[in-house]
Parts: sequence; C-alpha cells; structure tokens
Amino acid sequence: MALIVQKYGGTSVADPERMRAVAENIAFTKRRGDDVIVVPSAMGKSTDNLIKLANEVSTKQPGREMDMLITTGERISMSLLCMALADLGIDAKSFTGSQAGIITDTVHTKAKILEVKGDRVREALAEGKVCVVAGFQGISTEKEITSLGRGGSDTTAVALAAALGADACEIYTDVTGVFTADPRIVPQARKLLHVNFDEMLEMAGAGSKVLALRSVEFARNHNVPVHVRSAFTWEPGTWVTSQEPNMEDPIISGVVTDTSEAKVTVVAVPDRPGISAKLFEPLAAANVNVDMIVQNTSHDGTTDISFTIPKADVATAQAIVERIANEVQARGVEHDDGIAKISLVGAGMKTSPGIAAKMFRVLADENINIQMISTSTIRISVVTAAADLEVAARSLHTAFGLDSGQAYSAPLPERK
Ligand code: ADP
Ligand code: ASP
Ligand code: MG
Repeated sequence: MALIVQKYGGTSVADPERMRAVAENIAFTKRRGDDVIVVPSAMGKSTDNLIKLANEVSTKQPGREMDMLITTGERISMSLLCMALADLGIDAKSFTGSQAGIITDTVHTKAKILEVKGDRVREALAEGKVCVVAGFQGISTEKEITSLGRGGSDTTAVALAAALGADACEIYTDVTGVFTADPRIVPQARKLLHVNFDEMLEMAGAGSKVLALRSVEFARNHNVPVHVRSAFTWEPGTWVTSQEPNMEDPIISGVVTDTSEAKVTVVAVPDRPGISAKLFEPLAAANVNVDMIVQNTSHDGTTDISFTIPKADVATAQAIVERIANEVQARGVEHDDGIAKISLVGAGMKTSPGIAAKMFRVLADENINIQMISTSTIRISVVTAAADLEVAARSLHTAFGLDSGQAYSAPLPERK
C-alpha cells in the first residue's frame, strides 16, 4: 500500500463533469489499495475572475483581504470534490490549508510554506478516509490566511507529499507531461519521459508554468518523485526525479518561454558607487522579485539600468523606482510590458561550449533583437520583444534538434 498525493489543476476540475471524472480517478486509486491525499486547484479561471473582481471594486487591495478572497476558489473545489466522491461511495473529508496545518510566513499573496503539521490529515488517513486539502493556501505565523502565489497548488501538493512521506506526487494537468517546450507555443514539442530536479528547477525558474518553482524546490530538497500527467487522457506522463541524465541525453532538454515579466529602465543614472544598492534594496524589502539586470556602459558619467520584474509587481515597483530615480537625479523611468523571456535549459550545457553563440546566431538569422541576456550553468535566457516569442521559440526548438516531427496530438482543452 502506497501513499499518493494527487494534485488536479484548474482545467482538470473546471466544470461538474470534470469534477466527477477526477473523482472517478481518485476512487480508482483508493480502491486499488492506496492512501490518497488530493489537492485541487480552483475551478477553471476562477482565481483570475476573483482578481478581476477585486480590481473592479478597489484600487488598493490590502494583501490580507486579497488572500481571504482568492483562497475561496480552492475551498469551492475541495468541498464539491468530496461530494462527488461521496456519490461514488468513497469516504472523503476536506480541509482548508489552515486546517491541514500548512504554516507560512506572513507575506500576503506570495507566502512561503515554513512547515506542514498535517496532524488532522494523518488522523483522517488512519481512519481510511481520502483527504482533500485546498491548494494554494496556508495560515501564517500571525494566524492570518495566506496564499502561495500563482500556481501555488503544486507547492501545496509537493509540500504535503514531503511532510507525510508520500511515495509519489502526481500532478494532473491539461497536457500529457513535461515537454521540450510549451506545446501551445511550439506544437512540435516532444514529451520527456524523465526530467531531473535540477533541470526542472531551471525550467520552472525560467518561467515554465507546468510546475510552480517552489514545488520543484520542495521535491528536490525532500526527494519526492513527481509524476506530471494528464487528467484528460490519463496516460503515463513525465517523471521528475533525482536521477542524473545519461551520456546519450541531448545537451538541451527544453526551450522555456515566459511572458509574465515586464522591463523597467532607469534612464541616465549617475554612474557612481551605491546607486544599484539604493535601487534594489527597497525593491527587495517590498518582496519584488527582480530577475534579469542589465547596466549599460556609460560615456558621459551616466548609465541606464534595466531589469525585469513580474507584471503583477509593476504597481508596487513603480512607486519605489520613481522615488529613487528622483533622489539620485536620474533622467526618468520607462516601462515595457511587451517583452518575452526565452530560455534554453539543459544539464549537458555544463560540458558543451558554444550553446550561447549558436542561440544568438539562430535569433540573428530570424532578425530577432536581443535586449537582455543572463546565464546559469545549465540555462541561457534572453529577453526579446513579445511579438518575437513564437518565431524565436520554434526556431530554437528546431535548431537544437528537439522537434518531434509531428504536432502535439493529445487534446489541449480550451482555456476558460
Ligand atoms: P494547471 O492549471 O493544471 O496547474 P497550468 O496552466 O498551471 O495548469 O500548467 C499547464 C500548462 O503549462 C500547459 O497547458 C502548457 O501550456 C504550459 N507549459 C509550459 N511549458 C510547458 C512544458 N515544457 N511542458 C508542458 N506544458 C507546459
Ligand atoms: N488557483 C491558483 C492559481 O490560479 C493556484 C493554482 O491553480 O495552482 O494560481
Ligand atoms: Mg499550475
């Protein structure tokens, strides 16, 4: 008998029919003899709709109230799922993040899990129940309801799997696994049978939505095998584990695309020590996640500093950056929402020189201008105009020999 955590994404539980299909799969797993913890996301686009509603009601959204609002989507899913399971004769019990003992820090809308107590979940499992834990939420050390950032149900699932010593964490979604690129953008993408934690960490860090970054951190730190698979075709998907790549594995395992960031440029900043610290310290204090940074060389004693941040943080960052720009007498601040980040990820990069040069050549041949560049030992990322995203991703995918030879064939559900 194994303990399995199953997480179902928003599209997988988008309507009553899907909810019942998911309940069937849970019942199947339970009847096979396994203990099951289920982590559902909010139905369809309901988190987006709650955020839209907040924007329509108010321009100032206190983090505490925002979290009270957006964590409700998962509560709807957890209770409906238990009802669908009851119809199938399965004894199931729902828990909010707080009831499950998911303790977080106090940073509203992007809280980090500090500890998973899980006592009530353990008790219910011991009574033979299926436990359904609302994804994406916890309770802070100050006893407030918190949410874990977009895509955070993945993190709930893997953190529970780690804390309760589950044998595997199954992430059910609307594609059949982890691909060499987002199959919605690169139809020729190939499904990977296996990805190791380090590569998956870089892919998630580069902005691939298929797994939330923190869920991969948990999986790697606690060695939880993760199986990403489809809640539509139910076929075996991709295993994400600690297994090292083989010698024969390709140098590049995937192309990652991300349009969730915006670029900010502080124009004509005086070129003297301490300016960057002055700019980035208050951004860090406000929990704005700065990703790429570029500083152009100066000739006239000034320099331009450009950096990327999540679009969701632009409003917070804008106030800070404008204040600092004023203080240091920069010429101005510019924003660009129309950017895309395209990354190549592959463990084989460590030992293969020339990948960056080839990447730049492929983009140059497509007449695509590179605005920013950053690298790690197993990743190269560039920022381009958003309009160049598809051509860039597809041409890199082909040039690095990743094409499958056929377009993605499993059903891609329409995004509601
Ligand atoms: P869920 O609601 O199930 O959590 P997400 O939308 O968060 O689903 O993540 C699944 C989506 O991730 C897919 O529909 C696909 O468009 C996107 N995606 C991005 N990169 C990849 C990749 N390398 N492999 C598979 N899917 C990817
Ligand atoms: N419902 C949340 C979101 O849309 C969490 C999740 O789906 O993982 O971001
Ligand atoms: Mg997701």
